[in-house]
Amino acid sequence: MTVQKKCSALVFDRPLTTALECGLIPLFVRVHESDNVAIIVAPEGVAPGVHDATGFAVRESIPQSHKVALARILSGEPVVRYGQTIGLANRTLEAGSWVREDDLSLPAAPNLDEMPLSTAVPAPLPALDGYTFDGFKNADGSVGTRNILGITTTVQCVAPTVDYAVRRIKAEVLPRFQNVDDVVAVTHGYGCGIAINAPGAAIPINTLKHISTHANFAARPLVVSLGCEKLQPTRLFESILPVLTEENTSIRLQDERGFAASVSAIMQAAEKRLTELNRRRREAVPASHLSVGLQCGGSDAFSGVTCNPALGFAVDLLVRAGASVFFSEVTEVRDAIHLLTPRAITPTVGRKLLAEMKWYDKYLASGGADRSANPTPGNKRGGLANIVEKALGSVAKAGTTAIMDVASQGQKVTSKGLVFAATPASDFICGTQQLASMNMHVFTTGEGSPYGLSLVPVVKVSSRTALAEKWHDLIDVDAGRIATGEATIEQVGWELFRFMLDVASGRSTWAEHWGLGNALVPFNPGPVT
Ligand code: CA
Repeated sequence: MTVQKKCSALVFDRPLTTALECGLIPLFVRVHESDNVAIIVAPEGVAPGVHDATGFAVRESIPQSHKVALARILSGEPVVRYGQTIGLANRTLEAGSWVREDDLSLPAAPNLDEMPLSTAVPAPLPALDGYTFDGFKNADGSVGTRNILGITTTVQCVAPTVDYAVRRIKAEVLPRFQNVDDVVAVTHGYGCGIAINAPGAAIPINTLKHISTHANFAARPLVVSLGCEKLQPTRLFESILPVLTEENTSIRLQDERGFAASVSAIMQAAEKRLTELNRRRREAVPASHLSVGLQCGGSDAFSGVTCNPALGFAVDLLVRAGASVFFSEVTEVRDAIHLLTPRAITPTVGRKLLAEMKWYDKYLASGGADRSANPTPGNKRGGLANIVEKALGSVAKAGTTAIMDVASQGQKVTSKGLVFAATPASDFICGTQQLASMNMHVFTTGEGSPYGLSLVPVVKVSSRTALAEKWHDLIDVDAGRIATGEATIEQVGWELFRFMLDVASGRSTWAEHWGLGNALVPFNPGPVT
């Protein structure tokens, strides 16, 4: 019998120094004392017979991040993780056995008509003063974390022309404007061939409207339209369009004399805007000017134990500093909604939260799907059995403070404090939609994703040290040290908070270093014609 992991089990209500004291990796990590399963910590997994100091032994080979039964679980009994039922055992599971995805039946989703509203509103935490970052102040009161020329497009038809112009602007014009970070084309698949008056159309249109006036674009776009498309610039910009037209920063390609003239018109308008942007300088502003969008992608069973709780701690710090922070991804909140509606600051906010869940239930049903469609093969490889387990880990990102407001799909977040901004969970769709409101993005991952956005810095946090080591030039912060006892949630949370302030002041993330900008994909639940 091997004794290589002769350590006490790591449980979060005990000191997290156990592994270090032993000089060994803990056998498993359990989140809540009522849990009857825990996840395996060792990167290489464990073999049958491996036991801890209490004599608890593993019965079979179990890979890292997969679940081990801590006691005998009879068929039909709840399997408990995070102190919550993540499923019902569909066969008897012996203590020490591997609890696989197929061993669990998916429990019913929380009934949205029976949710407690504002019954456990957390008291405000003490204010956190004195934290600042160096940002770019805008005329509309927003603050940019980057100084970028944004070129918005109204329709996919013009995207290759704009991309061509941007390549030339970057090569021939941008080098003369040292204070401007980048030139970004807001290209997308929307704009024509769509039922633009269908109810769902407001979501992509509002998303593109808010992105076009992004804080990192100095809240003022350069616009390239085609002429005949459904999404006319008037619809996108309404009151500011006359200003753009007067400034010659709205270009309609069907008014131009051919391709070269079109590119020339875009380049001239770009030079005008670059001259203005180049005058901007960073200045110290309170951390309250941060607007941080939270997301996870490629999650694993460690996400809810390491990176998401550490991010949740950082979120509490941001809220205490007066910032705006929002979490999203409806399908990854839906199965933990009973833990969130009690935290709504008012019953009205709680009802708004429920309305977003109901809207998405209907949206999925209209496509012949339900919440079980969410976990990916990667999530399952990473030990997540189902959407309930995934959601319970996901909401740890949201920290512990009251939920101050809810933004519907496509709406801009306007409240300070913790907000729920409804989006799909798909990484690039969620990120696109969050761009409407954020000047900083934090992305937690277990399986790993090289994801990035061109408009805002994306801070990537790994759930496991093995991923941070393998992807040493993609992961910005390693939260895996929490599982091995080398760092606490609080330590990684503070590290992340300070890193965000540095990045907001101009420090590059790995995604920025490599120029990784995923395509913008506005969520369009409306019909295509
Ligand atoms: Ca996601």
